Amino acid sequence: LLHINDSRLLNTLDELSEIGATSQGGVTRLCLSDDEVEAKRYIIELMKRAGLEVHVDPVANVIGVLNSAAETKLVACGSHVDTVIDGGRYDGSYGVLAAIEALRSFKESEIKLGHPLAAIAFANEEGVRFPAMVGSKYATGLITLKDVFALRGTDGATFEEALTKSKLELESDSFLAKHIPGTYLELHIEQGPVLENEGKQIGIVENIVGTRQIEVGIHGSADHAGTTPMDARKDALLFASKIIQFVNKLSLELGKGSVGTIGFLEVTPNAPNVIPGEVRLIIDFRNSSANIIDLASSKLNEMVKDTANKDRVQISIRQRADLPPADMTDSIASLIQEITDDLGLTWRRMQSGAGHDAMIMRRIADTGMIFVPSKRGKSHSPMEETAGDDLIHGANVLANTLMKISK
Ligand SMILES: [Zn+2]
Repeated sequence: LLHINDSRLLNTLDELSEIGATSQGGVTRLCLSDDEVEAKRYIIELMKRAGLEVHVDPVANVIGVLNSAAETKLVACGSHVDTVIDGGRYDGSYGVLAAIEALRSFKESEIKLGHPLAAIAFANEEGVRFPAMVGSKYATGLITLKDVFALRGTDGATFEEALTKSKLELESDSFLAKHIPGTYLELHIEQGPVLENEGKQIGIVENIVGTRQIEVGIHGSADHAGTTPMDARKDALLFASKIIQFVNKLSLELGKGSVGTIGFLEVTPNAPNVIPGEVRLIIDFRNSSANIIDLASSKLNEMVKDTANKDRVQISIRQRADLPPADMTDSIASLIQEITDDLGLTWRRMQSGAGHDAMIMRRIADTGMIFVPSKRGKSHSPMEETAGDDLIHGANVLANTLMKISK
């Protein structure tokens, strides 16, 4: 069994977390912001130092290749270095740095490999500034270069403008379209409390849940809070409260890991002495079964249509996002399990409630995901933390799984 260089991995994690560090102890690196570009330059340098052949594709996916002369299928691994606002130090970065460390260890140990390998930092996974998972969607042909260029960020700039401003040296061809990976592995922090609660060291992901977001606009009437009798009101917020209760009850009833959340609510005019005239809210449904997500959406539609009339409000509904669930590849999960056992580590099979580039890569490659524990389940927050030993264990599982696949 191979052992990666522990202190080197932890050092690079520390160094990368200084780029875009916030006063809260977190990290902010929005896609193609100055800090995220600096993080990419750091990754490029690290890949070069590791002796990898570096490619930066037209959307700024950064790819470090080992053993590029082999004519067999590419074995890829990686994650992302963009973050949410005031996010944690490990989400994404850990998977990228462990991937580079694994390839560097192969090279140093002069291990003979039958396949070319790639460590990848995918562009814009988080979807804060631009819609999520642009890099992996481009790499798998789900979105064209023209469509990526035209994406408009929350600050008004297009993706193309942001790329130009970054001054990154981009290749004109998609490396991953030319060298389609046969396998993709992603190592990531769990971002939930399950592994810690059960005292397990490694999570082997069986599926990644799908997410559907539905935006509902409720149009009532903004009238005087004192002079409008109760039976004459068109209260948009009152109706919103019914939707909130309904989504919670529905998700409990559907079971099978269903979750439904309303975390965004906009009330107009939002004044203490005016009946709320307009409400905009976003419902986020997640499940590992596309059928259950469909069922939840249709039940929501039904409820809204049936009751809006009675409450004298008007409704507009639109789908905001839809990422279908993805099953990971059985044979890869079994291999990860075998290697985890060989390393003497404890594991459990689980699902991922968060989306990852792996769910996109699954469309073209055999795919597996490895989780390590997140302390108190915290993520997307400066409180994000994973013990050094757990980080090292995960990287060793990744490296040995890659080695076995690439033999
Ligand atoms: Zn992530």
